[in-house]
Amino acid sequence: MSSEALTSISLTSLPRLSQGKVRDLFSLPDGRTLLFVTSDRISAYDVILKNGIPSKGFILTLLSAKWFEVLSSRVPGLKHHFLSLTPPPAPSIVTPDERRMLRGRSMTVRRLKIFPIEAIVRGYVTGSAWLEYEKSQTIHGLAQPAGLSRCQQLSRPIYTPSTKAELGQKDVNITPAQARAIVGDKYASRIEDLVLACYKAGAAYAEERGILIADTKFEVGLDEETDEIYLVDEVLTPDSSRFWSKADYQVGREQDSFDKQVLRDWLTSNGLKGILDVQLPPEVVEKTKARYIEAYERLTGRTLEETLKSLE
Ligand code: ATP
Ligand code: MG
Repeated sequence: MSSEALTSISLTSLPRLSQGKVRDLFSLPDGRTLLFVTSDRISAYDVILKNGIPSKGFILTLLSAKWFEVLSSRVPGLKHHFLSLTPPPAPSIVTPDERRMLRGRSMTVRRLKIFPIEAIVRGYVTGSAWLEYEKSQTIHGLAQPAGLSRCQQLSRPIYTPSTKAELGQKDVNITPAQARAIVGDKYASRIEDLVLACYKAGAAYAEERGILIADTKFEVGLDEETDEIYLVDEVLTPDSSRFWSKADYQVGREQDSFDKQVLRDWLTSNGLKGILDVQLPPEVVEKTKARYIEAYERLTGRTLEETLKSLE
């Protein structure tokens, strides 16, 4: 496991389809599958930091793969994009060096048409949902009961979508009715039912392992040939979710989360929030890495080293 962060993915043997804040997507020769590669880049407040977090790409990839397996067994009829943790073996597809670089941080996935919303599910009221609730007793425009406290568990999980902004723009919270107008009547309820079922199954699994999933962002795609909806992207990772320690949880106050909290706090206290090209000091990198690793190990019951070794 390298101690250097890999922030740029160079693959000369495959055409790059797109580059997001964290991932690079490459087309595989069959035209129907993609190589989904997760770098160690980290973003906070919608900008990418100059240095990455070593091993973060492994953690996000291997944790998502674990979730696809867990959710498949717990959500009846679930379709998801994950195919394999390794690129196809034909030597012409990637070089041996590229294959080494990709090991543990890449997966092959079914290429789908992505619905242009973020399908957020919330089990607890926190973050932007808490700010909105305090102001108007609503969450994404949905009326809520009076008297909720900060970080309180909702009586049942709710579907609270947002727009999916272009790189550099901010996602905007919307109502389920606005999401329906974006994705169309034909798919709106199917998407909502799918992500609620995935959240419930994931939250129950995580809670058994001492982690509360306060909220999470799913993405969904459509197979236009079969008209089926698929769970895509990364799933229930510390980047896409707020994980809290069950043992430390207390309603009525902010919770320490297993994600970018250390990094966000450092940026805010140094007046660097939203500034481009910030270099993180080694202690912030180390602490952030440790939190990601802890989330991985608690949720999978395996060390990261052990999982990486099993892929060699
Ligand atoms: P952020 O997650 O921070 O908003 P981002 O969404 O810009 O960043 P990444 O997460 O870096 O981007 O890259 C993943 C991209 O791949 C997303 O645009 C996502 O919609 C897309 N994607 C995920 N799964 C599939 C799939 N099966 N087929 C096609 N595109 C996919
Ligand atoms: Mg993303």
